Amino acid sequence: MTSTVDLEAVAIAAARDLEEASAQDVLRWAAETFGKRFCVTSSMEDAVVAHLASSVFPGVDVVFLDTGYHFAETIGTRDAVAAVMPVNVITLKPLHTVAEQDAQYGPQLHDRDPDLCCSLRKVEPLNRGLGAYDAWATGLRRDESPSRAGTPVVAWDAKRRKVKIAPIARWTQEDVDVYVAANGVLLNPLLWEGYTSVGCSPLSCTRKPAEGEDGRSGRWADSGKTECGIHL
Ligand code: SF4
Repeated sequence: MTSTVDLEAVAIAAARDLEEASAQDVLRWAAETFGKRFCVTSSMEDAVVAHLASSVFPGVDVVFLDTGYHFAETIGTRDAVAAVMPVNVITLKPLHTVAEQDAQYGPQLHDRDPDLCCSLRKVEPLNRGLGAYDAWATGLRRDESPSRAGTPVVAWDAKRRKVKIAPIARWTQEDVDVYVAANGVLLNPLLWEGYTSVGCSPLSCTRKPAEGEDGRSGRWADSGKTECGIHL
């Protein structure tokens, strides 16, 4: 299924039909509908969606964006997922290394222009990598932040001409914790150190959340930026 007209119609129908479906049923539908042209993306903060997808679609592609700025714990989580789970981890890299980016734009672009840095190191690689797929799943949840409160379970990603799926959009943090405990799902070790959202390692991009603030408040905390651009 590669006709974008067909894909948009599929997305619209599924958005209507699957809003109340379980995460497993949503992922089963995606696997049956798109087969190998379906992938899961993971930031390797945890392996919840990868675990859910692999339970209904063993060997599913799990796409990871290696920005060159990740914590060692995040790379370790990716490697552990690849080693022990029935998934096919695919690592996407930016067109330029950090050193090449520094040479072109100056050092620490993340502090000066995080939107450009995310565009170069996340959005472009993802857009390029998703060329191989008709549908992609993310771990977005409505309870993560105000900017994600309206996340649909299935949507038409018009910018990329893909079906975008958020199988755990309706889950709460408690739902995640219960699933992780019941299934022994791999977690990024930084979650035990007080981080609640794990992105790139510069302090301007990821820090522990402030008391009483939402789980993503530690991302780009000193700027008005709330999303890297992948989900905008
Ligand atoms: S999160 Fe920070 S370091 Fe990572 S791509 Fe975005 S601005 Fe750059």
